[in-house]
Amino acid sequence: MSRSRRTRLLCSWFDMLTTSVSAMTPDPNTLRRTDPCSECGEMMLWTQNAWVRGDNRAAAYRCLNGHVTDPADTRECPACGLHDTRVVSPGGAGPSAHMCNQCGAPFSVPN
Ligand SMILES: [Zn+2]
Ligand SMILES: [Zn+2]
Repeated sequence: MSRSRRTRLLCSWFDMLTTSVSAMTPDPNTLRRTDPCSECGEMMLWTQNAWVRGDNRAAAYRCLNGHVTDPADTRECPACGLHDTRVVSPGGAGPSAHMCNQCGAPFSVPN
């Protein structure tokens, strides 16, 4: 194998490695909730399969002590796609009002 071919291979291998690493490690800021845990005050991180109800598992915010927030209270912001949102007013019969902690966008979720 000639020297130039080996260099090219190394480069493409390095490209592959760096792109997969950046895809595998999302920015921790996008996973961290602005509001602390309502039970113990620790910071909360968006965690896959944290919310368990029967056979259903869903991603939810979980604190360092294992408290999990109902994902219904942290709906995905339609503007920025994050779940760092809060309920402004529970809807009751009508749609509930939510607000994004990251971008400040208000949005509503029909019941
Ligand atoms: Zn907690
Ligand atoms: Zn947002």
